[in-house]
Amino acid sequence: MSSLPIISLPTASLRERSVEVDPSLIGTPDFQAFLDVMIESMWAADGVGLAAPQVGRNERVIIVNLKSGVYPLVNPVIEKMFEATIEGEEGCLSVPRVWGTVERAKRVTVTALNRHGRRETFDVKDSDAVVFQHEVDHLDGILFIDKAVEITKGEENLKAMIGGR
Ligand SMILES: [Zn+2]
Repeated sequence: MSSLPIISLPTASLRERSVEVDPSLIGTPDFQAFLDVMIESMWAADGVGLAAPQVGRNERVIIVNLKSGVYPLVNPVIEKMFEATIEGEEGCLSVPRVWGTVERAKRVTVTALNRHGRRETFDVKDSDAVVFQHEVDHLDGILFIDKAVEITKGEENLKAMIGGR
């Protein structure tokens, strides 16, 4: 199976809001193949998640690699962010060689359509909750560097990508 190259900064399309997927398209062979290519691309890049804009398609599709397995999800919505937060170090395939500390909700509930077009609800915490928040942010053009309280590693790589800030 093939995988797609991962788009990185400063590509402008990473900053766009992605559009919702028409649920009637999920069952089509083309769309199913796209989900498989996204999963393959995530494995190839050694990521714990991937959002469609990272492979050049500005549609609301994510792959999340959770403790319970790998899920391709369409039109995900974070329905609830619980108040408690956790801070952790994040990186991103689209912001290579940069890491930073990000504060996220420790627990979230998310609804999305699965690859069969059926609605699923996820109630997740800790690293799984962080993956969801990171990937759904991509669909709104938001990157972890926007939220990082501190860039811990690779500040020079970030400057090389986006210029001084
Ligand atoms: Zn990312």
